[in-house]
Amino acid sequence: MKIHGCIFCRVSAHEEPAKIFYEDEHCVAFQDTNPKAPVHLLVIPRKHITSLNDELENDKMLLGHLMTVVGRLAKELGIDGAGFRTVINTNAGAGQTVFHLHIHVLGGRLLHWPPG
Ligand code: AMP
Ligand code: ZN
Repeated sequence: MKIHGCIFCRVSAHEEPAKIFYEDEHCVAFQDTNPKAPVHLLVIPRKHITSLNDELENDKMLLGHLMTVVGRLAKELGIDGAGFRTVINTNAGAGQTVFHLHIHVLGGRLLHWPPG
């Protein structure tokens, strides 16, 4: 389950320091170290999934759970009303730099569309 050398597997195992906002047996939500907005969290499954390019037929419950956690955290952090953005970058051409699936949650400022 845990992939050697994967930084987000290490965050999940508490081997890498992180400001954790929420965690349960399936996922962890923590502060992005290079925030692009006043609120910038990452929500990850504890299970190592590389990206949305993986075969995810058996992970539908897990993926749905991540979405419900995003919604709950957005409310708790007070960014639900003004609005927030969720982003999943898949592969280098889309800007993926950490190859453990993560949902960016951005808020606290006006977010323009389309993103760059
Ligand atoms: P992406 O470019 O979509 O793969 O996003 C990776 C994100 O992870 C970037 O926004 C980085 O700032 C963030 N990041 C990398 N290492 C860490 C870490 N150890 N703790 C928290 N965020 C990290
Ligand atoms: Zn991992």
